[in-house]
Amino acid sequence: MLNVVIFGAPGSGKGTQSELIIKEYGLDHISTGDVLRSEMKNETELGKIAKDFIEKGQLVPDELIVNMLAKVLDSKKDSKGVIFDGFPRTIPQAEALKKMLNERGTDVSVMLNLQVDEDELIKRLLERGKVSGRSDDNLETIKSRLDVYHKQTAPLADFYVKEGKHVAIKGMGSIEDIFGYIKEAINAVK
Ligand code: AMP
Repeated sequence: MLNVVIFGAPGSGKGTQSELIIKEYGLDHISTGDVLRSEMKNETELGKIAKDFIEKGQLVPDELIVNMLAKVLDSKKDSKGVIFDGFPRTIPQAEALKKMLNERGTDVSVMLNLQVDEDELIKRLLERGKVSGRSDDNLETIKSRLDVYHKQTAPLADFYVKEGKHVAIKGMGSIEDIFGYIKEAINAVK
């Protein structure tokens, strides 16, 4: 399986680039943010718990996320590969992902770390907020999401450096150019 972790701050283009990767390589897409938003919309137990965290820009507890991901992963058993978007976001999540994939006879193939300047991230998220309808795309929540990213999520880069899976990708410029760098990184491991 070709398993790609797409990584980066909120607003770094993970969703946009995931769509292009899916088209090019026929991978399945798991976005934990999308799964949580759907749980919220359906007012499930998980959705109700997640809502408070999401609206404060905080991370949903690891245990809930890992259990949720395991279920989604089981529904993709016959997949050619999966793109993990917005997961993992903490070291325990990265360890859990490794274990889950190893148990299924596979592993992360590559981790793509999209690099975007902070000013640009805020600009993109505020723009998205005008059309996304997302309750967390407002300046106050954006600031706490970026803070959480720097404190809890960014240190994960080292985890994947040690695994020999980390590739830094320039995430500024045209969508096509960025996708070009991504293709190079994926083609090198596939
Ligand atoms: P996203 O759509 O990836 O920006 O995620 C939106 C929000 O969902 C985040 O700010 C978190 O509150 C929550 N969330 C999504 N994925 C995770 C994750 N892997 N771990 C913890 N919380 C998450």
